Amino acid sequence: MATMKAAVVTEFKKPLQIQDVEIPKPKAHEVLVKMITSGVCHTDLHAAHGDWPVKPPLPIIPGHEGVGEVVEMGDEVTNLKLGDVVGVPWLHTACGHCEFCRTARETICHDQENSGYSVNGSFAEYAIMDAAYTITVPKELDPIYAAPLFCAGVTTYKALKVSGVKPGQWVSIVGIGGLGHVAIQYAKAMGMRVVAVTAPNDKLSSDLAHEMGADLVYSGPGEKMGEWIQNEIGGAHGAVITAVAKQPFNEALKSLKRGGRLVPVALPQGSMELPIFDTVLNATEVVGSIVGTRQDLYETLDIAAKAGIKPNVTVKKLDEINEIFDDMLAGQIKGRVVLQF
Ligand code: NAD
Ligand code: ZN
Ligand code: ZN
Repeated sequence: MATMKAAVVTEFKKPLQIQDVEIPKPKAHEVLVKMITSGVCHTDLHAAHGDWPVKPPLPIIPGHEGVGEVVEMGDEVTNLKLGDVVGVPWLHTACGHCEFCRTARETICHDQENSGYSVNGSFAEYAIMDAAYTITVPKELDPIYAAPLFCAGVTTYKALKVSGVKPGQWVSIVGIGGLGHVAIQYAKAMGMRVVAVTAPNDKLSSDLAHEMGADLVYSGPGEKMGEWIQNEIGGAHGAVITAVAKQPFNEALKSLKRGGRLVPVALPQGSMELPIFDTVLNATEVVGSIVGTRQDLYETLDIAAKAGIKPNVTVKKLDEINEIFDDMLAGQIKGRVVLQF
């Protein structure tokens, strides 16, 4: 049995175990990807903790920001070739024929599989992808910087599109971690004005927001954010929430201009409050956004290659995964950690 090194969740809220597991075999429509690198997303931490109503089956190998090389292909694969450098994103596969798939909304297909959640992901030396859902990495992009684009990039690019904010208008990016710092770059590339909101007094994220090109940065008390944004710019046209906390969801509603749109992206536990009177009178819109389709991903990578979008990465090794999660919980990561294989 040929084996590979993988980081495995065997029990929720317990450290991941570095194990030797069998290298999977691609089915006829699948490819085997030899991992070069993988980003570490906060969703992987939610998976390892069993934070969400739908939990992954255990044991599971997390990871959905993988970039690697196609080293084996099933007989039916025609869109890829050996040696192609491809990604392992959250959307591992979808049914391809339901109402949502038919209307290019495959990310809300009921019959989708998710890398690192419902099927094994990229925290391993090899991973399987459905060829039809596999996107290649543009030649201009270094795998280390391309990896975070397969979740943080596509998710925030899509959320910015969903926000409806037009060039010259203001968007607030709330939470400047892995997703948020990439969001600032895409928003600027899309011609938006950006107000970045970090956790209170978070110097690391505030420095990062400035480096990423935010026009304004707020690192003050959470409960003053709405008022501050109203005073500074007269309210934001849209708000993309990537902060792993409930409070900023409620507060960001107060930061919107009339007719503004809140786009929840982060997935902390709990509910947000939507005051009925303000929602009606201000014609507020709230639209959730979940990763992005294959086309969104294609655009995400294309824009990165052309506009020079580059995540701020720290390179680590697979067996450091538990310390990486500790740092993530403590808010001590500047941008994204990527694992190098
Ligand atoms: P991260 O840990 O890299 O970043 C989260 C950031 O939120 C940190 O910088 C932290 O300081 C900040 N934060 C925490 N509390 C805050 C507060 N009160 N105010 C402002 N900022 C605060 O996480 P990430 O990888 O960027 O992921 C963020 C969230 O998005 C996670 O919940 C993840 O599961 C979710 N996610 C959703 C999608 C989607 O498609 N909707 C895709 C990827 C990730
Ligand atoms: Zn992710
Ligand atoms: Zn479907």
